[in-house]
Amino acid sequence: MREALKLILTIQELDVKMIRLMRLKKQRIDELKQVENLRRELLDQLKDKENEIKGFHEECLLFERKIDEHRERIKKLEGQQTSIKKIDEFNAITREITNLEREKAQFEQSLSNLVDKKSAEEELCEKTKKNLAESDENSKTLEAEIRQTIRDINQEGLDLKKAREELVVGADPAIFTIYDRLLRNKKDRVVVPIENRNCTGCHIALTAQHENLVRKGEKLVFCEHCSRIHVLPDTTALEEVDVEGSQVKRRRRRASITS
Ligand SMILES: [Zn+2]
Repeated sequence: MREALKLILTIQELDVKMIRLMRLKKQRIDELKQVENLRRELLDQLKDKENEIKGFHEECLLFERKIDEHRERIKKLEGQQTSIKKIDEFNAITREITNLEREKAQFEQSLSNLVDKKSAEEELCEKTKKNLAESDENSKTLEAEIRQTIRDINQEGLDLKKAREELVVGADPAIFTIYDRLLRNKKDRVVVPIENRNCTGCHIALTAQHENLVRKGEKLVFCEHCSRIHVLPDTTALEEVDVEGSQVKRRRRRASITS
């Protein structure tokens, strides 16, 4: 039983590496998404600003037209005034001109405000464009980096998978099936040593009888609390498998229990 579990423990180390690797891969993919989202956000901002500027521009044209119309009308009235003899009519036209001049001045003020707003928006727009260009440059580098990491992770994952498959061939099928099911469930180490009569998986205290069963090593002993398989601490002094390409190197070491 102890030898069978030693092999399972070696497989478990590969599985723990694989679990960490997959977590890392997920993190990297999330980072990639963040980079893409940021760029999309800046592009949306830019589009909004450009639309706003377009709106201001159209409004400016409208005021310019109104001002022109007023100028024309004033000119016309001034022309009429020269040929008028009656003082009442002359004064009436003067009043009309004064009104038009006042309206024209209001339009000019509005136009001036709009032009200010428009140039402020244009400035912001230029800034956003600059940010976008910078972020494009940065994200290109970052994206390339992340994509390379993902490729490396995929390769490492393939190597781990191959090494695992080689080991599984030699494993006790019944024990391996139980181990594999537990691992998929917990996504963590599921064969754990007992230390000071405690489960190192869930840290619950165990009975002396339980410890004796583990010591005897005649059958699998499960933690009543967390369902992990218990082994004695010295069983975990296992062979570490280093995965490098298809080469599997082994050296003795004491497995670290904490992740
Ligand atoms: Zn436990």
